[in-house]
Amino acid sequence: MNAFWTETDAAPPATQASRAHAPAAGREAAERAAHEAHKLEKRLCRQVGQAIMDYHMIEEGDRVMVCVSGGKDSYGMLDILLKMQQRAPIRFELIAVNLDQKQPGFPDHILPAYLEQLGVPFHIETQDTYSIVKKVIPEGKTMCSLCSRLRRGILYRVADELKVTKIALGHHRDDMLQTFFLNMFFGGKLKGMPPKLVSDDGGHVVIRPLANVAEKDLVRWAEHREFPIIPCTLCGSQENLQRKQIGNMLRDWEKQYPGRIESMFTALQNVVPSHLMDTQLHDFEAVRATGMADADGDTAFDLESFTLPTVGGFPMRIL
Ligand code: SF4
Repeated sequence: MNAFWTETDAAPPATQASRAHAPAAGREAAERAAHEAHKLEKRLCRQVGQAIMDYHMIEEGDRVMVCVSGGKDSYGMLDILLKMQQRAPIRFELIAVNLDQKQPGFPDHILPAYLEQLGVPFHIETQDTYSIVKKVIPEGKTMCSLCSRLRRGILYRVADELKVTKIALGHHRDDMLQTFFLNMFFGGKLKGMPPKLVSDDGGHVVIRPLANVAEKDLVRWAEHREFPIIPCTLCGSQENLQRKQIGNMLRDWEKQYPGRIESMFTALQNVVPSHLMDTQLHDFEAVRATGMADADGDTAFDLESFTLPTVGGFPMRIL
């Protein structure tokens, strides 16, 4: 893989404001907005490029099925992947796929019109999973687990029919951290949401090109690009309460100690198996004194201390 994935030579994007001949009073604000949008675009391209490169997500000749739901994340993923495709020295195809689950009020004209105007190949799969889920799940119970199981099966089948080599999903950094804490708090496992993994049916490679991207940046990008967002509450199901709680917890931590999310995310990429307790990951039986000093060795009686990012100009230290 080459460094081109992370080169960020994107041309400044035209914003709504800069498109018009703005009056003098508004020109400065429009220029500032255009500059901010340009910076954001560069950051998104760099972060997506870095993830593609680090995890070998896309290779020459790949045919990538980009799952588009009509939400800000998948719109953002498709948008950035299209930019990467234009400048990549390798050739790969993108095909946008949407599953219309026949939820009441789903505006089924929005996505086809948007994708047609983009000029990207696309496929809309229509399957009335909504009726099945409604029939099977008792009133008032969460429908999400059956709904997503059905959706997964359909998307795998579509991936086979379209002969794609990768399935791209729009999960971002915050989704991945939430999954990590959900697994730890409720599943008793140190396990996150991987940037690249074989699907549970063993038949597909799933990639998450937004792995390094913060949700707040996707919100801003969706506003800037004016994506035609389709609301995700059409099915009337309750949101996953546990995920919501974890999301709130992470946001509160970040508010209290700015930089904590970044630090936790970095930690997912810096695992030290010898300092955990999984006997499958580390051979504790083979541990012997080496006689060599090692900064990563046990500090015996001293508990480690950490320097947190500065808050209000003061560095925080905790034990
Ligand atoms: S929120 Fe609705 S559409 Fe989404 S997984 Fe749950 S039941 Fe399915």
